[in-house]
Parts: sequence; C-alpha cells; structure tokens
Amino acid sequence: MEIPIINKKSFISKKWILDHRGPKNPVDFHLPYAWSVEKERTRSGAVEDTGTIFLTNKECPYQCLMCDLWKNTTDGPVPPGVIPAQIEYALERMPLVNHLKLYNSGSFFDGGAIPRKDYPRIAAILKDFETVIVESHTSFIDERVLAFRDMLHTELQIAIGLETVHPEILPLLNKRMSTDDFQKAVSFLAQNGISSRAFILHQLPFISAGEGFVWTKKTIDFAFDSGVECCIIIPTRLGNGAMEALQHQGRFQLPSIPSLESVLEYGIALKKGRVFADLWDLEIFSDCTQCFAIRKNRMEQMNFKQEILSPVSCDCQA
Ligand code: SF4
Ligand SMILES: [Zn+2]
Repeated sequence: MEIPIINKKSFISKKWILDHRGPKNPVDFHLPYAWSVEKERTRSGAVEDTGTIFLTNKECPYQCLMCDLWKNTTDGPVPPGVIPAQIEYALERMPLVNHLKLYNSGSFFDGGAIPRKDYPRIAAILKDFETVIVESHTSFIDERVLAFRDMLHTELQIAIGLETVHPEILPLLNKRMSTDDFQKAVSFLAQNGISSRAFILHQLPFISAGEGFVWTKKTIDFAFDSGVECCIIIPTRLGNGAMEALQHQGRFQLPSIPSLESVLEYGIALKKGRVFADLWDLEIFSDCTQCFAIRKNRMEQMNFKQEILSPVSCDCQA
C-alpha cells in the first residue's frame, strides 16, 4: 500500500514532536540508567562479549522525530565527575569485557552532556579495554574527538546516526544533518585513524514498505561508500508519541521481520564491512508466533557469522 507523503512540512516541526511526548522516566544522575552485556562480532571476526553502559545525562539538543532516548535523560547538565562515577559503578557490577559502548542518549562529545573536563578520568578508566565505542551527532565531530582519542590509548569507534539518505525524509527527522555532513564526519574520523559505524533506520515514516526496503539498501550503500566500517540496521519503533501519531494517521507502519531479514542479507552480501540487525525488542515487530523465534535466531547467527543462512519457510509468507 502506498502511503501518500502529503503536507508533511505543514505539521512536522520541533513543537509537533515535543507536543506528542509523554513524561520522562525518573532518573538519578549519580547512576547509569542501564547496562548490559551482549555478544557482538568484532572486527577480527571473533564473537565476544561487549558491554554497553547507558549513561544518565542531559537530553540531546536535537529531538529527532523518531527518537525516544530523551525518556531517560535529565533536563539540565550533570556536574563534572558524575559521568566517570557512573562508568565505574556499572563496571563494578558487569562481567569483565574487552569491548565497551558508552551510550549517553545523545552525543558523547556534546559538552552539555559529558563535561570535557571529565575526559581524562574517563580515558583512565577505559585504558584496559580493547575497543571503546561512543555515539555522536556529526556536529560534535571535530578536534574534541581527537583530544579524547589521544587520552584513550585504545581503539575508538564513533557511532553516528545516519538514519536515511532519503532526500525528502532525512530533513523531516529534525536531525539537522545532511548526507554531506555525514560524509565529512566519517572522512574526518578516517583521516585521523578513527573508525565509524552508522545507525540506519529500516522503514521510515511517509513511505510504503516496498520503498522502505529500497531506501534502507540505498542508505547502507551510502554509509559504506562514505567509509564506515560497520552498519547497524535499526527497525523503526514506536514509543515516543510522535511515531504513534504518525502510525495513527496512516503515515507510518512498523517494519516486518522478514523485511529486516532481507535488508540484513543485502548488507552482509556486500562484504564491505560488518552489518548487524538490531534485535532489541524484536517481538514487537512479529505477527507470526510460529516463525518468530526461528527468524530471530537466524538474524542473530547472521550477525555473528556475517553469512547469509538458509531462509525460514513459514505459512505466514505463503
Ligand atoms: S541526534 Fe540521536 S540522540 Fe539526539 S535526538 Fe536525534 S536520534 Fe536522538
Ligand atoms: Zn511465520
């Protein structure tokens, strides 16, 4: 079914996005709001435990259309010293890992989120990790990254939300980032010996499932052509109020699990770098209890092996 892109500019605005929000969750800036350990295929090809610490800090200034990360943020900046303490708190409670992601619901290099004076202590805490991955909007990717890298003495990778290269929809996401900005940021990082990974949305609002499939593939192509080392395909979710409103208006439909499998297959077949499907909360996309677990397991194994495995056959696809 085609979903008409009608009058989209007339209603998508920062105010419209904010007006659809519910309340934030209560958070304590002395504590990370979550941490986890999951297996991930590393650049060397081994599948190893990788920790993620979800830091509690000030809300991201961008307020993208599809983002729900604001839910676990503070309204104002956190004091210096708090972020290193959050990292130590989580590490004391997590199993030992060699690879660590620090995700702060925004940009690590946004001084309003992570005080720059905390970099030396954070770098000292992280010195024994093999890989450290942090996320950032392109607008914060400059000499701040190099300053942190120079203190870190471990491999640093930057995760950047590219989301899509659809020329009409990228501006509607309120990301205030162009594909040129993305290319420049990735090449700046590469010139300085820092690798990058792209977050890519699978199934945008305003377009049909068929077009969504095409644009995810185009976005993977663009990310690798720009020089990223890894692409993470994220099925677009509900959860922030604005996406529910678009769904209610018939302007957004959740992606199907078979379509996620197909774009994962496409990305892996390129053999240009690691490609992962984000499987968090995957059951919300399922409409078949018979094949869900098999499809989830297939994608998990494809994430690990970076090979296309035998397709799942089920009556739901007949
Ligand atoms: S830049 Fe990232 S963290 Fe900030 S609002 Fe957009 S998607 Fe969310
Ligand atoms: Zn099925």
